[in-house]
Amino acid sequence: PADGVHPALKADKREKLFLSTPNKHSALAASRAYATHPHIAGSVEDFHDALEILALFEAHFGIKKPTELPVFSAGSDASRSATLSVNKLKSPSAWVDIYFPVMNTPVSNGLEVLGDNGAVEWTADLTEDGDPGDPDAAKYRDFIPTFHGLSHDGEAEGQLIYANYGRYEDYEKVLAAGGNFTSKIVLVRYGQVFRGLKIKRAEELGAAGVLIYSDPRDDGSVTVENGYAPYPLGPARNPTSVQRGSVQYISKYPGDPTTPGYPAYPNATRTEGENIPQIPSLPISWSNARRLLEEIEESGEPLMRGRASKKKVKLINHVDTKVMPIWNVMAAIPGHIKNETVVIGCHRDAWVMGAADPTSGTVSLHEIIRGYGVLLRSGWKPLRNVVFASWDAEEYGLIGSTEWAEDFADWITGNVVAYLNTDVSSSGSIWEVEGSPSLAHLIRKAAQDVPHPTIPGKTLWDAIDDEGPFYGPVDPEFMATYSESRKRLATETGIELLGSGSDFTPFLQRLGVASMNEGFGQALSDAPYHYHSIYDTQRWQELYADPGFGRHVAVAQHLGLVGLRLIDAIVLPLNTTQYSFELEDYLNQVESIASSLSLNPDFSGLHKSIVNLQSKSNELDAEKAKAESSFKKLLKKCERHPKSCRPSAVQSFIRWPLRVLGFDIAENRFEKFVKAAKRVQTVNAKLVAFERGFISEGGIKDREWYRHLVVAPGKWLGYGATTLPAVTEALTFDNNVTMAEAESHRVADLIDKLADVISV
Ligand code: GLU
Ligand code: CA
Ligand code: ZN
Ligand code: ZN
Repeated sequence: PADGVHPALKADKREKLFLSTPNKHSALAASRAYATHPHIAGSVEDFHDALEILALFEAHFGIKKPTELPVFSAGSDASRSATLSVNKLKSPSAWVDIYFPVMNTPVSNGLEVLGDNGAVEWTADLTEDGDPGDPDAAKYRDFIPTFHGLSHDGEAEGQLIYANYGRYEDYEKVLAAGGNFTSKIVLVRYGQVFRGLKIKRAEELGAAGVLIYSDPRDDGSVTVENGYAPYPLGPARNPTSVQRGSVQYISKYPGDPTTPGYPAYPNATRTEGENIPQIPSLPISWSNARRLLEEIEESGEPLMRGRASKKKVKLINHVDTKVMPIWNVMAAIPGHIKNETVVIGCHRDAWVMGAADPTSGTVSLHEIIRGYGVLLRSGWKPLRNVVFASWDAEEYGLIGSTEWAEDFADWITGNVVAYLNTDVSSSGSIWEVEGSPSLAHLIRKAAQDVPHPTIPGKTLWDAIDDEGPFYGPVDPEFMATYSESRKRLATETGIELLGSGSDFTPFLQRLGVASMNEGFGQALSDAPYHYHSIYDTQRWQELYADPGFGRHVAVAQHLGLVGLRLIDAIVLPLNTTQYSFELEDYLNQVESIASSLSLNPDFSGLHKSIVNLQSKSNELDAEKAKAESSFKKLLKKCERHPKSCRPSAVQSFIRWPLRVLGFDIAENRFEKFVKAAKRVQTVNAKLVAFERGFISEGGIKDREWYRHLVVAPGKWLGYGATTLPAVTEALTFDNNVTMAEAESHRVADLIDKLADVISV
């Protein structure tokens, strides 16, 4: 560049340029392109979209179209070398990895109420009405019949019994009231916990099958009772809408059911699949559920008293279960530092049209790609490598991301400094963000630097409390659980913790990569999101989720900005002190759980370890500041006296700081630069090691795939995070003080080792 200073140095200019690129018109056009056809994982349309994303990477990152399509079978030399050569790239590259998981597709289904003599009294239609005014939804109305991903093939017949949300405690309540689940068909409503876990508990209790329905009580204020017309006429839930979705037993392990912990190559040795149900299930609509509820409400008895229906119900779920191909689309931009990489990802597959899930996220990713493309063309060379991922088969159980993470576990452990995810980026008014505590300050500051999507003068951070446009009374029972779950997650920084439910899981929970996830979700006064139904369409998106498309843009700006600040910072903006103080909060929480159970475990060892980690982290903070300032001082000198920093042959590991500046250094400064750069690199290695430090080879008992001992998806929550999971669950599920103490020692050992690793 003319001024002799590489544009990468001017962070504020670069950020401005990036923030000015994502825009509503481009986002809207991209959404219309992706969301107007179905693209379930493994389908032709899904492969077609993969090639579209590949072309997008090629166009924006200046990648010359190769003569042969870079689509590689996982495990092949070409596939392995594509990821493993990210450290050696001279210019951006893009490719597609094909993995081969076991998945299923619906064949035929049925749901009947049987009379005394076994005659069919009522047959559920199991169909969503569709929207006659929307050509897209009408066209694909019956494209993917309502079913559960990875559900068990079979038929079941039994009396009906109700168990509220199907939470662990709901089943306990019914049992306590004298209910019995053996050979019953359990009817539960969606919400509160991951759907697969509702089935898992029913299976453990001997049930024959499970039906999960969408209950308008969970739709916040936007209900027919409150005077709102159902979609497509108004914002309330269409009573025929059905939530598809995976019923994988997420808290055992995610990914391909038949290759736990290792990649689903075409020739992989496969297990039976230990994370999938052994009883059939179906998702059903409110309009079908209403009829079934009559069978157990009869004579006005409350549903949770454990009374089963007199009549029997027959559930039929026939699915075709087989190995299917899926396509992860990957791109890499090489940075100056060869062994530090930031990964940014979103899944691409949808149950049907998926305008919100995941097209809104894909559109935000699309806008980040355009933004980084503009930076590249302005002369930007990132300090660290960037890898982009358009994951496949997230819907079946985080399969694309998990298989890649299992395939390249060593590479990720050795190279990835952070993983940034979005999934549904726009389905309502409230901005939701979760992440590792070490990223909390970075996330928050960036949100204060991004404008609010709809209100001038406000920032994205303000959208954390936003509400929707439709008010009215909310079901009190739902309200109580809703407030409870929001309270449980509240942290001092305002950044919630990651549980599971999207593609950050393998990075954070298995490999210990600091991670985040964000998107606009449904506030109580928003139009209910017709999640995983045929109504998640472009029309609904434009009308109710993000009119104007500002939210798609805001997520792109924020995630891209967080990305830039991680990619180009000299010292990584990871706050280990915040994390180490939050550890103490987690321990306090466990202690209060213990006392609420009248248990008195001794956690003093863990407490001591945490306090020691805090003090080591404080010392690391001081070293971060010193390393950065001594490095910057040398850079300043070069700026002031460019002659003293003129090109010379220097060893490659010292090249990056100088290339950033556009300088090489004179011999006389070489030693000083080597020292300063090494000091920075040492500090960064410690910062990256921090989250890795919570990974235990042995993993969490009974679900060893999960190896992070500080945060995991709750065993019976799935989506929600549980801190100090093994310690907490030893108390809450086993009431076992000895076990809780032993688990606390395991965490303390990790923390002691980590304290050594980060000590300066
Ligand atoms: N996000 C998807 C869902 O909630 C998949 C989650 C999973 O299977 O882990 O259905
Ligand atoms: Ca696997
Ligand atoms: Zn999704
Ligand atoms: Zn989804």
